[in-house]
Order: sequence, then C-alpha cells, then structure tokens
Amino acid sequence: MNIGKIITVAKRRGFIFPSSEIYGGLAGMYDFGPLGCLMKKKIENFWREFFVKTDNIYEVETCTIMSKPVFVASGHLKDFIDPLAQCKKCKSTFRADDLIKEKTGKFVEGLNPEELTEEIRKNDIKCPKCKGELSEVRIFNLMLGTNVGPVEGNLAYLRPETAAGIFVNFKNILNATRAKLPFGVAQVGISYRNEISPRHFLIRLREFRQMEIEFFVHPEKLNECPNFDRFADIKIKIFTREEQERKGKPIEITAEQAVKQKILPNQFMAYFLAKEFLWYQKLGIPAKALRFRQMTEAETPHYSAGNFDMEIEFDFGWKEVVGNAYRTDFDLKSHMKHSREDLSITENGKKVIPHVVEPSFGIDRTIYAILLYSFFEDKKRGWDWFRFPPRIAPITVAVYPLVSKDRLPEKAWEIYEMLKKDFDAIYDETGSIGKRYARSDEAGIPFAITADYQTLKDSTVTIRDRDSTEQKRIKIDDLTRILTQLVNEEIKLF
Ligand code: AMP
Repeated sequence: MNIGKIITVAKRRGFIFPSSEIYGGLAGMYDFGPLGCLMKKKIENFWREFFVKTDNIYEVETCTIMSKPVFVASGHLKDFIDPLAQCKKCKSTFRADDLIKEKTGKFVEGLNPEELTEEIRKNDIKCPKCKGELSEVRIFNLMLGTNVGPVEGNLAYLRPETAAGIFVNFKNILNATRAKLPFGVAQVGISYRNEISPRHFLIRLREFRQMEIEFFVHPEKLNECPNFDRFADIKIKIFTREEQERKGKPIEITAEQAVKQKILPNQFMAYFLAKEFLWYQKLGIPAKALRFRQMTEAETPHYSAGNFDMEIEFDFGWKEVVGNAYRTDFDLKSHMKHSREDLSITENGKKVIPHVVEPSFGIDRTIYAILLYSFFEDKKRGWDWFRFPPRIAPITVAVYPLVSKDRLPEKAWEIYEMLKKDFDAIYDETGSIGKRYARSDEAGIPFAITADYQTLKDSTVTIRDRDSTEQKRIKIDDLTRILTQLVNEEIKLF
C-alpha cells in the first residue's frame, strides 16, 4: 500500500489535484481532475442505483449556505466542536485527542479541556512538528461562517452535513410528494467543516462531499423495514462496544440476528449496514478490510440511540467512511421547537413525529479507499495500474489503431465515435501499442479496443482485458452490447 506513489499517480493522471496549487495550495482542500470527476459521478450514480432507487426515497439538492437559526436548532453552533492544542513555538494547531491517542493509544473522547491538558502534560506530549510546548487545550467550533449580502453582520453558515437541508425541507418534501412512512430523502453534495488539522490526503478535509439518506420511520414500526428480507441473511462484521473494551475483534453475524440479539437498534439500521457491506465490496474493497464499529458511549452524540460507523482499513489504520446513526426524532423535534412549524405526520388520524435512521457516506474517503485497494505495483507487467471495477472506472474503453497509417486511424476513430455515445471512451494513436496499453492500465481503463489489418477485412476488432491482459476478437456490431454486459457484470469474457 504505497499511498505516496498513489497520490503522485492520482495527480499525474488527473484524478486529484491540491486546490489553489499555483498559489501554494489551501490545506484541507482538493480538486477533482478529469478522471476524478468522472469516477466521482459514477460512484454517485451507482450509489443512487443501489441505495436510492431501490426504496421509497426522494432525492433533493439544497443550498450549502444556510441561515444561522438552522444550526442553532440542529445544535451545531453549540456542540460541533473539537479540542484544540496549539504549539506555542511554531503556532501549528492539532486535535488534542489525536495527539493523545497517537502517543498513548488511549481513547479520550468525552474528556473536558482541563482533563485533556492534564493528559498532554502527564504524557509529556510535544508539538509533532517542532517539539515545542503545547498550549492548554481549548474547544474549537468547526462551523465555517460567511457574511451574506453587502451589509456586514448578516452571518450565515456553510452546512457541515447535507442532512441540514433535508430536515428544514421536511414539510415541503412531504407536501410535494405525499410520501407515506417509511420513506427516505437523499442528498448528494458538498459539506464544510473547519477541521483543526486536515490530514491523510482525502481523509480529513475542510470541504468534502457526502451522500446521505435520512430515512423517516414510524416510531412504533422500527422493525418493519419493507425490503429487509432481501438482505436479512447477509453476514456483516460488527465491532461491538464490549469487544472494543476487551480488545477483542469484530463479531460476524447476519443482519437479522444482529437485530434479534439487539446488537443493532432496529431493522432499518441493519438493512443499511448489510447493503453498505455489499456495496463497498462491489467498489473493490475486500470484505476483510470492512467492519462496523459501534461508537462507545462517550463518542455517541446526545441525540443518537446507536451509531455504527462503517470503517475501512487504510494504510494508516481503520477509519470511518460511512456514519450510521439512529437519530430518533431529535432533528424534527428540535426544528419544530425552533421554527414553530408542525413537522409531524398524520397516520390513521394520529400525529406522529417520525424517527430517523441516517447512513452518511463520505465520497472523498470512498475514493481514497478505491485508489488504495485498486492500485497494483506490477513488476511483471512493467508498469503500475489501477484495477477499478468497470462500473466506476472513469474511462470504460480506449480505442486504438494498431499503427497510425493504412486507414487504421480512420477506422478506429469511427469505432470511437460510435462507442462514445454510450461509454466514457478515449481515442489514442500516439506511441507504440504497448505504451498505449500501459497508459490505459495506469488510468484503470478496463477495456481496450484495437483496430488492426483484419478489421479492414472482416469488421472485427480485438478487445483487451486490463486485468488479465488477454485479448479476444469480436465483431464491431457486437461491441456496444458486449461492453454494456461487461460493465454491468452480466457476462465474463475473460
Ligand atoms: P459524520 O457526520 O462525521 O459521521 O460524517 C459522515 C461521513 O462524512 C464520514 O463517514 C466521512 O466519510 C465524511 N466526512 C466527515 N468529515 C469529513 C472530513 N473532514 N473530510 C472528509 N470526509 C469527511
């Protein structure tokens, strides 16, 4: 797992660029280049196929800047905080809990600033950059504010999660859709957190992308998840609080049993966990690198009746990629109180405030994991390459003439023009065919089509498989159908 090399290739090939780079960059911000942008779109669309269209879920797109009362009601202006320690010498800032965990291995969530300062002093923790003395720990709010309009003092905030726009629109969505419980609202978009110390490439950013679902459920029907049966038998790995405390390991259990044994709070939570476990494997992350960690009591937010983070094992250790929270009726109730709007639903003549199960996916962390687990340093082949699943590979197919003469470029271009209607395709005629295969492997392009002399005679081409490097001959007329089936994993050609 050579992340340094992966970051270099990701930049060179146009996946990820440091933002504002020509002016020295901006910490915690990355841009998506042409390949990164294509991959991000495909991940989002695959997520829509797998998580949104399968259920009674409506997608919305709301503003990223929202008014102050929204975040008073949601509790973010008061509670969205991290403990900060600053180096007295070089002025670098750090998360105090991270520093303590790194030095002692101790989990210090829930300690107050004085207790954290005490831990820093007791364990003689110094600035990791210059070894200078650290300040007392203080609390830092992660919300990013901005002034809206020409008049000073009109403070608004950049949302720290896409969920905010869903809750405040609850009534509008309900009126517009006439949705009946249970139903979900999804949102894909940018969120902002003024993180104290951004780090690990795409892991801790100040501007990042999320895909979230707020699933609204009748509080008395938490174990009546309509599609649960389809995933009840899926085995997932849960690192329970008890196992964490006794330094054990995750238990393997079916979604159904996890609800029956009250390890998970309800069927809806189990439903999403099972689907996440499957979906991340479809993205190329092996099952052994996936687990659900139950948050400890100190970590669990006050509104939550159960948080289970889906974690992936990265090069630097396990890290949350999807936050799963059973938020109860906290958000709707709080917005009802602050906005004085009635956000209840009438069911069988009775008013209820729905409960919420929220899976919250981080796109950037997902892409980090995909890059990490798809990258192959290949001595035998002679070049490094990405083994992206075809469905999310930025470019699906490359089209080449064997040589750039004898009407082969014209023929290959014709095929390219045909394929680009249905696929993300590229055409390339520069360099030897071997070099072109190497370039397409490095961009993770799963299939390469080559027009050669036989193509001119019988309208067939070769199709090369990136993973095995094998080639087969197929008819040009069959190309679109076969590529579609390959991308959807309906057939295996190699
Ligand atoms: P949370 O609300 O903290 O549970 O976040 C939900 C998901 O958003 C996480 O599982 C991450 O994938 C993603 N996320 C949260 N904070 C950041 C960040 N600073 N940088 C990148 N992704 C983040």
